[in-house]
Amino acid sequence: MRIEADVKLGFKNVLIRPKRSTLKSRANVNLERSYTFLHSRKVWTGVPIIAANMDTVGTFEAARKLAGFGLLTAVHKHYSIEEWRTFLDGEPDSIYNHLMVSTGTSPDDFDKLGKIIANHTQLQFICIDVANGYAEAFVDFVKEVRQTFPDKTIIAGNVVTGEMVEELLLGGADVVKVGIGPGSVCTTRVKTGVGYPQLSAVIECADAAHGLGGRIISDGGCACPGDVAKAFGGGADFVMLGGMLAGHDESGGQLIERGGQHFKLFYGMSSATAMEQYAGGVAEYRSSEGKTVEVPYRGPIEPTILDILGGLRSACTYVGAGALKELTKRTTFIRVMEQENQVFT
Ligand code: 5GP
Repeated sequence: MRIEADVKLGFKNVLIRPKRSTLKSRANVNLERSYTFLHSRKVWTGVPIIAANMDTVGTFEAARKLAGFGLLTAVHKHYSIEEWRTFLDGEPDSIYNHLMVSTGTSPDDFDKLGKIIANHTQLQFICIDVANGYAEAFVDFVKEVRQTFPDKTIIAGNVVTGEMVEELLLGGADVVKVGIGPGSVCTTRVKTGVGYPQLSAVIECADAAHGLGGRIISDGGCACPGDVAKAFGGGADFVMLGGMLAGHDESGGQLIERGGQHFKLFYGMSSATAMEQYAGGVAEYRSSEGKTVEVPYRGPIEPTILDILGGLRSACTYVGAGALKELTKRTTFIRVMEQENQVFT
């Protein structure tokens, strides 16, 4: 047994220190980024925020709206091949720039991925997602996907440490997804005691990835637009959001009415709810590592997107960053013991 004595930080442990700035208005801040990916060599330009590949978040309806603002959606893996066809038939070609096809690592998942990509060759992004990205078999799967799809941009995760980021990048991933345990409906830390505070994971993994020419996604743990700014400030190239985008018209999950109030069901993809829906129940050898919650119904997703993008632009102006690209260079985090004033919450 060993103890690492360094304190690891989450979003709530820091604030971003303001800096003198010559910027006149937040309206001038450019939130678009352009990346050339390590293996696929594809160039992507857009606003690097991604709706999570959860069936209550990463829906086709959300993808359509988010694409309109330049954001990405990791479309959840439970749509059928036919549903993909119907959706893409009705969309302009520009949608391909904003979609990721999610997959697990089973032979059935691989087979389905191959069929979706064969039907829609313009799809650029493949998101290989497992709860624990540390298994050797996972790295082998990433290698197999890289061999099969040499020109696709491959995202692989989740991990939280630099050495595993490097291994996945060397194995063929272009982008590594970072986050174990920070999610709003995740119970991994409670059930297993395993995890890593998200901001430190992002800072350390970004450093490892950028050294090899790779990219990272900060996945999970953002509870407000300020956390999104902190993730980018810490070096994330993309930020993935679940809970912040749940509860809208475009989100999946049943609408519930109780006592005149409306809620939407939101659950982790490893929750008992998801496993009952897709895997015929929770297998005896495992426990569920996700919660099921009812979130207040929030109407259309558009105002939420605008609120997040507005917060991010404002964060950039506070530190004098004229573009999102400059945010991390201009970020100094201060460790704090307080965040929001709670008098009226
Ligand atoms: P949020 O933005 O809601 O804080 O986090 C979203 C992320 O939580 C997802 O992208 C995914 O990585 C993670 N997640 C989703 N469902 C589950 C689950 O059931 N268990 C765990 N451990 N993580 C989950």
